[in-house]
Amino acid sequence: MLRSISLLLLIIIASIGAVHAVDSTSTTREQTLSIIKPDAVAGNHIGEIIALFEKNGLRIDALSMKQLTKQQAEDFYAVHRDRPFYKGLVDFMISGPVVILVLDGENAIAKNREIMGATDPMKAEKGTIRSNFAKSMGENAVHGSDSKEAAKTEIQFFFKPDQVFIR
Ligand code: ATP
Ligand code: MG
Repeated sequence: MLRSISLLLLIIIASIGAVHAVDSTSTTREQTLSIIKPDAVAGNHIGEIIALFEKNGLRIDALSMKQLTKQQAEDFYAVHRDRPFYKGLVDFMISGPVVILVLDGENAIAKNREIMGATDPMKAEKGTIRSNFAKSMGENAVHGSDSKEAAKTEIQFFFKPDQVFIR
């Protein structure tokens, strides 16, 4: 009897631990990089886009408006170097100023991608940034980091540590 009670207790404790472990990995506070691309800046949508981030629980840790150089745009999108759209992408990214942000919050990388919507605005869910503001696959309003590694590299690409404020 005592043995089966101890065994039951052990199972309960183990399952609480397991639930806790799942919880702690699914609610990680992290940072991600966002770029409001030249089309959305030209369309005067900076404020509306930032409001969407904040309404969805992301906080702004850093913000900068910049005209990217050709070299910066080429380096930033270097993973796409061999894709047919690369030259067009670089030309578009330097066609006007952009707004670069560090966002943070629980699961910020995935949450930002959700708020952005699909790469192709025709496929983006209603209410997402790309559904609201993007014109085409090429001119699609925002960039967002797609992994923890990318987020780290991309944040360091644009910001020095003392320019990022975790509040
Ligand atoms: P981003 O990296 O800008 O956040 P994404 O992760 O949704 O976008 P990627 O596959 O990384 O999409 O492509 C990078 C960018 O290259 C896209 O946002 C888009 O501007 C451009 N791009 C991607 N595929 C195409 C395409 N088939 N035609 C034109 N432009 C494209
Ligand atoms: Mg991408």
